[in-house]
Amino acid sequence: MEIKLSDDTYIPRRIFCIGKNYAKHVAEMKSAIPSSPVIFCKPSTSLVPPGEDVHYPAHGTSLHYEAEIVVLIGKEGKAISSDEAVDFISGLSLGLDLTMRDIQNELKTKGHPWETSKAFDESAPVGEFAPLSKVGDLEAIGFRCYVNDELRQDGNSSNMIFPITRLITSLSEIWQLLPGDLIYTGTPEGVGELSKGDSVRVEGEAFGAFQWKIV
Ligand code: ZN
Repeated sequence: MEIKLSDDTYIPRRIFCIGKNYAKHVAEMKSAIPSSPVIFCKPSTSLVPPGEDVHYPAHGTSLHYEAEIVVLIGKEGKAISSDEAVDFISGLSLGLDLTMRDIQNELKTKGHPWETSKAFDESAPVGEFAPLSKVGDLEAIGFRCYVNDELRQDGNSSNMIFPITRLITSLSEIWQLLPGDLIYTGTPEGVGELSKGDSVRVEGEAFGAFQWKIV
């Protein structure tokens, strides 16, 4: 999938995802507040453009939506300081970190990696990107998630445990960030089940609305 923003085209090669980044979601998962960002990755083949169908995975029985703000990295950088982090953001959007919750719970119990519950095909629907200038204050981004027109999540980046600039700093200590890298920044409270036939919509003032149908 290509991402177009202004006159630029990006080919996402890596998708970094942050877990447990909103206290009320950590509480609903009966988990503990992390002392540093919880990081996992999805392959770029997980991406689904807005408006396309998402196929219910065959390998589990509990597909959950997690609406998240998604950051698009615009330039290369390693060991980025928190002061300069904002310069590496090209744009932002909203997306879904689709999760097989039954599989994830099994993996957590066994202490195994999360990939089969998080990084499967079509697990990362993502909307169109808005330039940073249109989004404004990174620590006051409001967004909502609806399932079949019913409000399920009402989030704001002001409630992140680790703000977006801190996520860029932490990731870039470990990986050289590259243009086209995406960061799913974690989900607020209100996650829940999806069934075949459901429509999921994410929306926010800076972005508009994006929808996917589960088939
Ligand atoms: Zn998530």
